[in-house]
Amino acid sequence: MKLDNLTIEDVRTGLKEKEFSATELAEAHFDKIQKKDEDISAFLTLTKEKALSQAEEVDEWIEQGRDLPPLAGVPVAFKDNMLLEGEKCTAGSKILENYEASYDASVVEFLRGQGSIFLGKTNMDEFAMGSSTENSAFGPTKNPHDLDKVPGGSSGGSAAAVAADMSVVALGSDTGGSVRQPASFCGAVGFKPTYGAVSRYGLIAMASSLDQIGPFAKNVNDAKLVFEAIQNKDRFDSTSVDRKLAEEEVDLEEMTIGVPKEYFSEGLDEKVEKKIKKVIEKVGEYAEIKEISLPHSEYALPVYYIIMSAEVSANLARYDGIKYGATEEADNLLEFYSKTRGQNFGKEVRRRLMLGTYTLSSGYYDAYYKRAQKVRTLIKKDFKQAFNDVDLILTPTSPTPAFELGAKSDPLSMYLSDIYTASVNLAGLPGVSVPIGKVPAEPESTSRPPQAEGLPVGLQIIGDVFEDYQVLNTAQKIEQLI
Ligand code: GLN
Repeated sequence: MKLDNLTIEDVRTGLKEKEFSATELAEAHFDKIQKKDEDISAFLTLTKEKALSQAEEVDEWIEQGRDLPPLAGVPVAFKDNMLLEGEKCTAGSKILENYEASYDASVVEFLRGQGSIFLGKTNMDEFAMGSSTENSAFGPTKNPHDLDKVPGGSSGGSAAAVAADMSVVALGSDTGGSVRQPASFCGAVGFKPTYGAVSRYGLIAMASSLDQIGPFAKNVNDAKLVFEAIQNKDRFDSTSVDRKLAEEEVDLEEMTIGVPKEYFSEGLDEKVEKKIKKVIEKVGEYAEIKEISLPHSEYALPVYYIIMSAEVSANLARYDGIKYGATEEADNLLEFYSKTRGQNFGKEVRRRLMLGTYTLSSGYYDAYYKRAQKVRTLIKKDFKQAFNDVDLILTPTSPTPAFELGAKSDPLSMYLSDIYTASVNLAGLPGVSVPIGKVPAEPESTSRPPQAEGLPVGLQIIGDVFEDYQVLNTAQKIEQLI
């Protein structure tokens, strides 16, 4: 039996109708990983033994005729910054190469409770800093649509695992776009919930006022099912909100959808623009489309990079070789710190630590950090204003399709990948990327002949705070229009 391209619904039906067992399903996924991951490198750790014993338990539930939880038997992969008890958790960094988690992250526990099957931990940019997964200390992940291209980042391993059908769903974390952007590069659905909707307990923190865990899936319905399972008030994360978001019906015909003019300017790839505009036109046959303005959009990236780096510099202070992390031989304490951190953090992480400590330092705090916080408020206000007039906002997820490995060696050009996603984190809003088709790859930029099918493009749908279901249900409607 071919267990290919299964959705959660397919897994449920297959298990119920006894077309396959959970164990067969788990084994089929490990076979696929063995076959494909040599080329793609999406996984850093495989947890086969655990997965098979989880699958065995689900098979027992079936045997006993028990009602199955919605995600029972569903293979899932975790970005390697989420703790899974007894397994390595590296955050893509050499400094945590040998770190083993002593407890489960809350999202892991929620999925464990559902009887999901844990396939393993996926590759990522070091401490989630990057947009291509090339900043991993363990080598890059490749885009399953074209092995010369990046999968996006920082959750590139999770995106690629789902896109290559090595997993049914996966979790990633999104601080400035790290779920939505790789989803768009790999042709998967990627959802970033409202800030606080999902517990971050057991997630290795990057920038705490921005970080949010979200699912990757093959379709919007699956992303919704995973979100449903992981959204929860959690006493271990005081930022998790004390409300369970409820399903809500949407009717495109009754909606007004905003298209921000600032998101269709210089830097947006022509083919991506054309594709996005075509979908907007189609949506316009049902909903009312309105041009809107988010006037502070141009400051989103500088504000994001100041606030994120400041928080990164505080959060990563714990990797000092004493509390956490690899150690290096040294004659005195200062040398110990600088050797440990200098030799075990990668270049991008060190760059951001320096940026962050600089913008927080006395004399510069007011000029950078405080001002960035003020502009963050203006960005939030822009969205608030917009949501007085429109229900949702449509934009491209990323200005370009997946780029060549090694193509963005200067940090600024890499940072530009987040131009449409970072403001959503600054404002704490929910946003999803939905695949809307493919565009041909640039022939001159590839070493091999371009793939005939081309590269995926993602449409971003942004909603107001706590309108997660409105975002997802509209995404599902749009998915059906394409
Ligand atoms: N690419 C962005 C960055 O490098 C976003 C990262 C993320 O969302 N984790 O910071």
